[in-house]
Amino acid sequence: MATEQLKEHRKYRLLQVFYLTEAVLVIELFHRLIAKGEAAIPLAIAILFTMLVLSPVYFLATRLRLELATQWFLIALTLFVSALLWSFNGLTDEALFGYPCILVFSALMGLRRTFVALMVFMILNILLLGLANDLQWLQHPSTTTSLNSGILFCIILALLGVSIWLQLGDLNQLLQALQSENNRVMQSQQQIEQLINHDALTHLPNRIVARQRFAEACRNASVSKRMVAVMFIDLDNFKHVNDSLGHHIGDALLMAIAKQLQLNLRSRDTVCRISGDEFLVLAEGFQTQLEVKQLAEKLLEAVAAPVQIANTEISSTCSIGIALCPHDGDNFDTLCQKADMAMYQVKDSGRNSCSFFDIALSKQTEQTFNLLNDLKKALPEQQFELYYQPQYDLQTGQIFGAEALLRWHHPTRGMISPAVFIPLAEQSGMMADIGFWVLQQACHDCALWNQGLKWPIRVAVNVSQSQLSRRHLELDVQTALQESELSGDLLELELTETMLVENAGLLQRAIKVLKAKGVHFSLDDFGTGYSNLAYLQDFELGLLKIDQSFTQKLLTDDRSKAVVRAIIQLAASLELQCIAEGIENEQTLVLLTRLGCFKGQGYYWAKPEPLSEFQARLNGNPCR
Ligand code: C2E
Ligand code: MG
Ligand code: MG
Repeated sequence: MATEQLKEHRKYRLLQVFYLTEAVLVIELFHRLIAKGEAAIPLAIAILFTMLVLSPVYFLATRLRLELATQWFLIALTLFVSALLWSFNGLTDEALFGYPCILVFSALMGLRRTFVALMVFMILNILLLGLANDLQWLQHPSTTTSLNSGILFCIILALLGVSIWLQLGDLNQLLQALQSENNRVMQSQQQIEQLINHDALTHLPNRIVARQRFAEACRNASVSKRMVAVMFIDLDNFKHVNDSLGHHIGDALLMAIAKQLQLNLRSRDTVCRISGDEFLVLAEGFQTQLEVKQLAEKLLEAVAAPVQIANTEISSTCSIGIALCPHDGDNFDTLCQKADMAMYQVKDSGRNSCSFFDIALSKQTEQTFNLLNDLKKALPEQQFELYYQPQYDLQTGQIFGAEALLRWHHPTRGMISPAVFIPLAEQSGMMADIGFWVLQQACHDCALWNQGLKWPIRVAVNVSQSQLSRRHLELDVQTALQESELSGDLLELELTETMLVENAGLLQRAIKVLKAKGVHFSLDDFGTGYSNLAYLQDFELGLLKIDQSFTQKLLTDDRSKAVVRAIIQLAASLELQCIAEGIENEQTLVLLTRLGCFKGQGYYWAKPEPLSEFQARLNGNPCR
């Protein structure tokens, strides 16, 4: 029981006993007056006086001055009973029964000192009464053995008092134990509620609470005829903070931003953390869109304010999408989705801004948005498949490897090109896990097709930027190799120039470790990016892949031919091999060989094909 409740309970008990005592006194008063005994009038006066003396108990108790009220009550009653004993029949007076009652009540109220003081007073009073009768200072009727009976009364009273006290002590202990147990249960109940309804990192409410608050806000809005704004806030480039400064800094930044958002909202508005770097704000009471926009701009500024974390000043920006109730609907999920779509529009058009949901603009975004939602299910629902495009030795015409190319079998839209979904997966942070799956699957398939071959056919796997920054590439590769029992030199990793530039440190370490295991490295789409020669030297990759945009224009465009020739010469001088992508006809093949490129892949031989077809191709090949 909480202290407040306990106080209320004690007040209630005290007042109960108070009313009861007053009632008994009134009954006794009438009884005496009706009985008209010889001492009726003085007794009635004593009762009335006592009732009057007891009345402050009520006022003290109602003002919760319980200890004083109880002491007043007990002392007044003890004096009243004692006065009766002295005035009327001494130790044979029925009023003597009042003493144990008073003791029981004082023990019940837990007033240790008052209890002891009252008991001592009562014992002394009884002894004195007995002695007074014995010594004939005072003559009460039938008091022949007054002191002896006084001693006996005292013993009985002491016994009674002590046993009540002990018993109540035990009860009190039990009560306290129960009370602390109860407090503990209540505390853990609160903790559980906090956990269910709040985000553990920022302590902000979560989506469950947001839904409830939205329902309340909507009710208010329909009465006041004002709007509720649902704002979807997504931090821009938060991934980079996590990747470059570490997760603990990322967490601290999220906490600081949560605080900033709270500080800039009114108390009746709600800010929730929905996931990772996404927040949801519910704000009500708007009459115009302009008011909502002003609040969104205030939040943009709040998020952009630099924060000091571990001696580093960090500032981040965010994109805010807004949907309005009732303008865009009155269903929580629909509004969240619309706010989310508006947020994607902001991301698309450069970030660090806010935008209202707009049905006209939303068509395109809606498609992307739906695709993104579907993409989330693709990996768990096994909708991905790897296709393989054979790679050929241009001089011997033999297959020496295959590039693994990812395909997504969308449940309703059919096959979707990686050029469409890979950028989406990168943006939304899903590519790292997808890339790991590709690695595992490609190693597994390669181990399978190499069974019983005369010479090994290796697999080339495209590595994405986020596999480096979000996951541990060397561990992932080693896991995939171990699981499939594939030898490292049957695996080639295709990197991009962006990776060399942006993740130089991480990549150099990974390359060193994996090269020691025999893994090959190539640079994909060479010629389309930075084409930085220093990087080529530093990373010591084995292979340059000439981008298909040059290969395909080789016969028709002199500039492409010049670029291809330059790339081939560059590769030769750096002791790198070249492989040309996108060879579609024999003339291109012949020209490439003449220019000094001896490896290639392209539709001239085969389009990327499912594993079974690729295996069938190997079966018809001299390598089998
Ligand atoms: P990429 O790595 O440069 O792959 C070569 C692309 O060229 C493939 O497109 C392939 O089908 C296509 N191609 C091959 N030969 C020819 C040809 O003769 N003519 C023409 N017109 N095209 C040819 P795809 O499969 O659509 O893949 C597109 C890109 O998606 C890939 O370009 C790669 O960057 C990325 N990608 C595919 N699978 C994965 C993957 O598992 N992981 C990662 N990170 N990226 C992947
Ligand atoms: Mg590639
Ligand atoms: Mg390529």
